Amino acid sequence: MRVGFGFDVHPLVPERNLILGGVTINFDKGLSGHSDADVLTHAIIDALLGAAGLKDIGTRFPPDDPAYKDISSLVLLEKVKRLLKANGYTINNIDTTVVAEQPKLAPYIDDICKNISNTLEISLSRVNVKATTQEGLGFIGKGMGIAAHAIATIV
Ligand SMILES: [Zn+2]
Repeated sequence: MRVGFGFDVHPLVPERNLILGGVTINFDKGLSGHSDADVLTHAIIDALLGAAGLKDIGTRFPPDDPAYKDISSLVLLEKVKRLLKANGYTINNIDTTVVAEQPKLAPYIDDICKNISNTLEISLSRVNVKATTQEGLGFIGKGMGIAAHAIATIV
């Protein structure tokens, strides 16, 4: 068994869709970034790559590569799933926490878990997504960005 950890943060800006775990969230701002800026999926990718000792998302999918402009991060997650498989690893489970002051994510959690479980081809019981706020403190508390933490175990 191997364990990996991932962390990511993106700034919230106007005129972008807010996408978390491949689900478009109803909100007046979105995350900025080269891809779709899906901060949760990025954290999961880094947790998986970390568990397998396969470097990180920036090395695998360079942000200056035009191929990844506005790409769905679920496509990148799928590539990472295949990379781990090619290296002989099986994904055991994923646990995550999204840190966002707004919006409330509870209505979206089930759909987010389904997307991740479908993309990684693991059962829903192996995927967990939690959401918390930062109680008004710091840049997340002020609504300037969203962060995500993820842990993955692989065999
Ligand atoms: Zn990111």
